[in-house]
Amino acid sequence: MKKTVSFSRNSVNVFFHILTRCNLQCRHCYINPDQHGDATVSVETAIAWLKRFHHPDKKSNLILLGGEPTLHPDLDRIVRAAREIGYASLTIDTNGYLFHDILDKVTPAEVDYFSFSLDGATDGTNDRIRGRGSFERCTAGIRAAVEKGFAASLIYTVSRENLHELTRMVPLLKQLGVSRFFIQVIGIRGRSARSGGDALQLTRAEWEAHVPPVAREVAAAGITVTYPKVFLEAGDRFECAGNVADNYFIFPNGRVYRCPLCEDFPLHSMTIDSAGALSPTGKINESDLFALMIPEGCVINKLVQAGNLAYTDDGSPAYRIACCLLKEEIPGAV
Ligand code: SF4
Ligand code: SF4
Repeated sequence: MKKTVSFSRNSVNVFFHILTRCNLQCRHCYINPDQHGDATVSVETAIAWLKRFHHPDKKSNLILLGGEPTLHPDLDRIVRAAREIGYASLTIDTNGYLFHDILDKVTPAEVDYFSFSLDGATDGTNDRIRGRGSFERCTAGIRAAVEKGFAASLIYTVSRENLHELTRMVPLLKQLGVSRFFIQVIGIRGRSARSGGDALQLTRAEWEAHVPPVAREVAAAGITVTYPKVFLEAGDRFECAGNVADNYFIFPNGRVYRCPLCEDFPLHSMTIDSAGALSPTGKINESDLFALMIPEGCVINKLVQAGNLAYTDDGSPAYRIACCLLKEEIPGAV
């Protein structure tokens, strides 16, 4: 049964980019070195920042990402430090190359999920987007992780380039032993904003014709599926996570965002220094925008990726766009 996962007031989600460097150059990569630099966070700084964002009274969830986080030579030390600090769940997002023998340096008790990114069910489609050889390396990485007893999830960023292969993911996920599937919508930031990514955005009709039906198929195969709500129905309430939830997107240059759609701009609402001291930024920052109510729903969506909007003949929006952090979830059938 599908359910909308509304924002939790009782948890803190920390998305920690420990570096921005990557071995791949995916066409839709959202990392923007002009905004986020090329630094790597040292273990000492990582620990100070992890302590700063851990909340003693709420469930604190940590997602370690990059760039490619396994390029960090001390990723295992950061994982252990996070567990000692008390993070309740820990996920490592990876392109699957799994550098520095990371599978041998951490354990399934320390890492809840290795979350792999694949953008096609075949090497032809995936490698066109993510680079030659990446399909083979990523699927080999998933197999190696599962064999060692880690739980593997998979993120598929859906766009006009790979929508046709979404349905072919169902048997592949089973074959690879993936236990959670995330369908993500292409974001128009980083490289995709600079290279005509808006032409790759799906219309509402395309989204509805493909994404929920495939999600149901995947769930029927026993794999839990999560995908963004994107298009609100007439009676749905619009809510901005920036106003109500504890989500922090932290970059190695100390920028801390509350909204991932703002990451292409110096709109971060806080900065953090190497000792872990957090300071609010001046106006105008993302928090000033969270308060704006517009008939199209999410205000930042309208500013940075309006290609998913449509209007009726009288000029009013045909529908509203949900917060990008609002998700639908279908548990895998047992
Ligand atoms: S999308 Fe991820 S794997 Fe691809 S280039 Fe960017 S950081 Fe690397
Ligand atoms: S995506 Fe839109 S609604 Fe969600 S946090 Fe950002 S500004 Fe708010």
